[in-house]
Amino acid sequence: MSQYVISLDQGTTSSRAIAFDKRGNIVASAQEEFPQIYPELGWVEHNPQDIWQSQIKVTKDVMREVGGPEKVSSLGITNQRETTVIWEKASGKPIYNAIVWQDRRTADFCDELKQRGLENTIREKTGLVIDAYFSASKIRWILNAIPGAMEKAQKGELGFGTMDCWLLWNLTGGKVHSTDATNASRTMLYNIHNHSWDDELLEIFDIPKSILPEVQPSNAIFGKTSQEDLGASITIAGIAGDQHAALFGQMCLDPGSVKNTYGTGCFLMMNTGSKPIQSGNNLVTTIGWQIDKETTYALEGSIFVAGALIQWLRDELCIIDHADETEVMANAVSDNGGVYIVPAFVGLGAPYWDQYARGSILGLTRGANKNHIVRAALEAIAFQSYDVIRAMNQDSGIPISSLKVDGGATKNDLLLQIQSNLLDATVIRPQILETTALGAAYFSGLATGFWSGIDEIKAFWKEDRLFTPSIKKEDKETLLTNWKKAVRHSQGWLKDE
Ligand code: ADP
Repeated sequence: MSQYVISLDQGTTSSRAIAFDKRGNIVASAQEEFPQIYPELGWVEHNPQDIWQSQIKVTKDVMREVGGPEKVSSLGITNQRETTVIWEKASGKPIYNAIVWQDRRTADFCDELKQRGLENTIREKTGLVIDAYFSASKIRWILNAIPGAMEKAQKGELGFGTMDCWLLWNLTGGKVHSTDATNASRTMLYNIHNHSWDDELLEIFDIPKSILPEVQPSNAIFGKTSQEDLGASITIAGIAGDQHAALFGQMCLDPGSVKNTYGTGCFLMMNTGSKPIQSGNNLVTTIGWQIDKETTYALEGSIFVAGALIQWLRDELCIIDHADETEVMANAVSDNGGVYIVPAFVGLGAPYWDQYARGSILGLTRGANKNHIVRAALEAIAFQSYDVIRAMNQDSGIPISSLKVDGGATKNDLLLQIQSNLLDATVIRPQILETTALGAAYFSGLATGFWSGIDEIKAFWKEDRLFTPSIKKEDKETLLTNWKKAVRHSQGWLKDE
């Protein structure tokens, strides 16, 4: 009897596998880190074989733990997005390392595209802002840098894929070259309105169409594993990029529902329903997911520094030993004592997009102590999230009544209370925080009939704790006014007067 769905969660620093039972509970999990490669300043690569080996190892471990392949109904995949690999189809060998989403080597080329006035064309077709982050400029770089690659690509001898596609190719023993619509929507080559690879964009980036995978819905049945690696032929069904899977795993099914993942940075996504919304606030428009022929769109905003600010307090300022201490310390003072931190360590992301901004601590007085600074740090995470959610709210015209949260920093009850106060909305923390893997499992199980439909899985979602606003209106307004003032002081810091 097949009792479990296993999600393969291919992340930026580790590969994980998590098995879920019929009720959506976690029954087994395994994780393996792999090396980060930094060949030059601003370059980040992964060895695609490390990704594959680590992913297959954890999958085997989890499969053994649940009692072998016959217990597994299907495998789903979720992954770090945009990271790009190109391989030779005949041998299955990559022609270069995978270029990771964080890699900045193509930033100059992206600036050139902006100078050529292509911002609107690209935004209209793909929903994306021109940036080195997305796959297209990385593909172009590999094809130009590796001798003979362009000719081979033109002859149809090479395959491109994001990590889902690379895993799928290997899992099926080189039989299937496909991806899902969410991953395709992050390449900057996919038209999110008519659902096709876009010829004009392919020409702009000088990429032969033959290297691209076939695009399927997120809940497609993609193929079967070859006997070779897992010792069994198991159905591979359900693929989605990590943030998209998390939006689904959080059951943000209605337009206007939003999730925020509080990790190193914050990743916010809002379901906007069946119509893509163009952002007036520099948010990205993306495919939330595609189920059969039905597409759900989303608005996305990212914050570069969130939990990383807490790490900074620990590792550089050395005023805490452990992230968990922040809650007690911040609770030891009744308010921030007028202290504000703008953690613009690498500039500011959505909705400001200011690469010249730098971090600042403002409002210090003789009475300010480390507890105030810690409180200001937690508030900074919540303020930045507030700014993105307000932008989503403005773009969509949909008021936000609740926010679902996950990620490592959501252990911090005070952080979530502050967030609820600022948003004047309910903040909901679910029992299962592994929402990314859960979302991929849901796509997988829905594809195969393991679950009968969304109504069945909806019933599994359980809250752990709910945070409701409890702050005086004038106190909230003071906080937000001062935050805005602090942001203004940080903006453009690196620019000449
Ligand atoms: P990622 O997936 O980006 O590695 P995680 O979801 O594992 O991140 O979350 C880790 C982040 O959460 C770290 O940056 C850490 O500083 C922060 N964090 C962990 N515990 C707490 C806490 N109790 N309060 C605030 N931040 C925390």
